[in-house]
Amino acid sequence: MTIEQVDVLVIGAGPAGTVAASIIHQAGYKVKVVEKQQFPRFVIGESLLPRSMDALQEAGFIEAIKEKGFQQKYGAKFVKGDATCDFTFEEQFTPGWTWTWQVTRADFDKTLADTVEKMGVPVAYETTVTDIRFNGSDSVTTVTDKNGQQSQIAARFIVDGSGYGRVIPRLFNLEKNSSLQPRKALFAHTVDERRSMADEPNRITAVVHQKGVWIWIIPFSTGVTSVGFVGDPEFFAAYPGSDEEKYRALLEAEPYTRERFRDVPLVFEPRILESWSATTDKFYGDGFVLTGNVTEFLDPIFSSGVTLACVSAQTAAKLVIRKLKNEAVDWEKEYMEPTMQGVNTFRSYVMAWYEGTLDTIFFKKDADPVIKGQICSVLAGYVWDLDNPFVKNHDTALKRLARTIELTEKLKSSSEIE
Ligand code: FAD
Repeated sequence: MTIEQVDVLVIGAGPAGTVAASIIHQAGYKVKVVEKQQFPRFVIGESLLPRSMDALQEAGFIEAIKEKGFQQKYGAKFVKGDATCDFTFEEQFTPGWTWTWQVTRADFDKTLADTVEKMGVPVAYETTVTDIRFNGSDSVTTVTDKNGQQSQIAARFIVDGSGYGRVIPRLFNLEKNSSLQPRKALFAHTVDERRSMADEPNRITAVVHQKGVWIWIIPFSTGVTSVGFVGDPEFFAAYPGSDEEKYRALLEAEPYTRERFRDVPLVFEPRILESWSATTDKFYGDGFVLTGNVTEFLDPIFSSGVTLACVSAQTAAKLVIRKLKNEAVDWEKEYMEPTMQGVNTFRSYVMAWYEGTLDTIFFKKDADPVIKGQICSVLAGYVWDLDNPFVKNHDTALKRLARTIELTEKLKSSSEIE
């Protein structure tokens, strides 16, 4: 068997893999990407956050993405019954990008992979990693192509960006259960001819359908809109029939979606995803680093996935370059801790969303603009800005704020009664 020799092998050509590959390649190293599927391929994760733009820029992808004409995104709207809460990223507390895109991931990911290939990084499609042997930090990886043909790649370092494939955690038994309860999504792309009924398309909308169940509405520049329902698996079990019957019944059951999406043509049959939350104990080891979804994926509610993928890949790539130069790298301090800082901030917001704490905050009338700007920063993905009290104290600040709002409302209504 022939053995190809590279400096860095990147597993997966999603956002994590391509951002890492580009940055390491630009530093002058020989990089190769292996990707299990043929592109374009479907993957969910269509709403980006402004914080991802800096990583996409450093990877040299912004111009190529701009050329594709994806829908620009300037904020996020939350809806519950008649109450709405609009966040415009211009209001964010942390300086940085104040817009991003809403993308069909098949096209977006292909744009990133084509761009990295044009830069000179080979991307081997329909090539699956099936085995890795480490000898210190050097490794030999076995890959299998679509014809079942095996070959080997020797690398000085591996970046695992295999997303839901979780290649290294699976091969080396590093998998750990998530602290979040399992949830399920039923979604499709709809031909959204009645889009003008809503104040869109330059933002996404999250609708609270009932406690623990919400709907995403992500309009694309093509006139197609992604609509998905997320909730406990038992919630969906109460709806009979095929997935399409369930999907249409759910669109009808929610007043916010009923008229706009009644009888809409679907671009594809509704799809189901479930139990997506996953993690692992350690995001690095001798000769490898995990990036993107392989580190930890929480929940779709705050569109954190692609941003965490891009930022973790950006951080990892710079550390890999230092490692290849034989410089000392403290992976725990310089990679694990900052990555967990971002993940844990989002985790607090995800938990507050499902517990209803965020309903109290989002749907309060006359919100304090300073606090709104600080929370807006988190929703824009600026989860590493420790000057923001809603990042620094992410686990307590939301609870405290919700309790203050509830107490003030109680006092107000009791003084009205008196
Ligand atoms: P991926 O994009 O999954 O790419 C990994 C690549 O690795 C794939 O192309 C795969 O084929 C390849 N691969 C896998 N195994 C192997 C192997 N053995 N050998 C070679 N290649 C391999 N995120 C957002 O930011 N916004 C959203 O609105 C959003 N909505 C979501 C909704 C739902 C219901 C779910 C479940 C997730 C959502 N996400 C969202 C999360 C998003 O899907 C992921 O976080 C994101 O795709 C992670 O990017 P990645 O580069 O880490 O992995």
